Amino acid sequence: MREPASSGKALVTGGAGFIGSHLCERLLERGTHVVCLDNFATGRAENVGHLAGHPRFELREADITEPLALDEPVDTVFHLASAASPPDYLRLPVETLEVGSLGTRNVLELAEEHGARMVLASTSEVYGDPLEYPQRETYWGNVNPVGPRSVYDEAKRYAESLTMAHHRARGADVGIARIFNCYGPRMRADDGRMVPTFVTQALEGRHLTVAGDGHQTRSLCYVEDTVRGLLALADSKATGPINIGSDEELSVLSLARIVLNVTGAREGLTFIERAEDDPRFRRPDIRLADEVLNWRPRIRLEEGLRRTVAYFVEQRSRYDDLPEG
Ligand code: NAD
Ligand code: UDP
Repeated sequence: MREPASSGKALVTGGAGFIGSHLCERLLERGTHVVCLDNFATGRAENVGHLAGHPRFELREADITEPLALDEPVDTVFHLASAASPPDYLRLPVETLEVGSLGTRNVLELAEEHGARMVLASTSEVYGDPLEYPQRETYWGNVNPVGPRSVYDEAKRYAESLTMAHHRARGADVGIARIFNCYGPRMRADDGRMVPTFVTQALEGRHLTVAGDGHQTRSLCYVEDTVRGLLALADSKATGPINIGSDEELSVLSLARIVLNVTGAREGLTFIERAEDDPRFRRPDIRLADEVLNWRPRIRLEEGLRRTVAYFVEQRSRYDDLPEG
């Protein structure tokens, strides 16, 4: 084990996003100085608004595809900047490829300049529409390199490859996390991913839009667990890649029914067209994370969903309370 990331100063790229904002919070709780860097392409300053004024927190607006410089030393760099929801990266295809390639290069070089450990937020999407079940880190994936999702999948595959090249050729200290579907408070209601979409639809008394027959599966990990996994990887010497996700797999249809149940909504389901190259199933093998990081998820789906629904209810009431005009 190295000194925990709590000992010094951390840079979080994409820190004003969904996962990044929770990570910044946990780091501050552990005593770390946090520089949060974001261009707000898909994140929001209000995600870290409650941290403004904290003596060890600094928010900087910057695009990581532009040259990066930091005057003060950092010892850990968490690289999370990238669109992550399918509607976001389909809307920002070139930006997504560039943040994964140019952005990752800039972040790796910055980390090396500072002798810092760099943790890359990669994704289960590197496995594409997987032909192995459950997905182990040794699986090479099944990605359509020219399909619409490739802008995200291939950007992350390239980011992993570049990270490994810096590690092998230049001795860079790196850790790669392959994050599986993560959910929780601070997802944007309109980000298009299934959890915020279903919860928002249920709270608005609309039908839940289930894609295809809804039999495709995902394994949902609550954000608090995901962040704990990223911190465990940062605190270790492991290079990875290591899957960070829940192995509690369920179909999209089951999730829609659970959301109806948790929200007490009365409306039902509408079946919509499924996106091209949408993976049919996804479930991580998390034995490596358990062995190497002593990490496994703790928050059960129903509990995580209850907390997520409470967040969206609170957001909506805040919005309703705003004066008109
Ligand atoms: P998010 O969109 O909420 O956060 C990403 C953040 O990166 C946003 O704040 C965005 O503004 C910022 N960003 C994008 N391009 C940038 C640029 N060029 N310069 C600076 N900042 C930039 O997404 P998220 O769900 O919090 O995902 C965070 C990371 O975790 C991403 O790298 C994503 O690929 C990875 N990941 C997330 C999940 C998940 O289920 N949420 C699953 C696998 C991997
Ligand atoms: N999905 C759905 N209805 C929606 C949004 C998504 O049925 O309104 C489905 C989507 O087709 C996919 C699954 O939910 O099969 C997970 O999609 P999400 O965008 O949350 O994550 P990802 O595809 O990146 O795993």
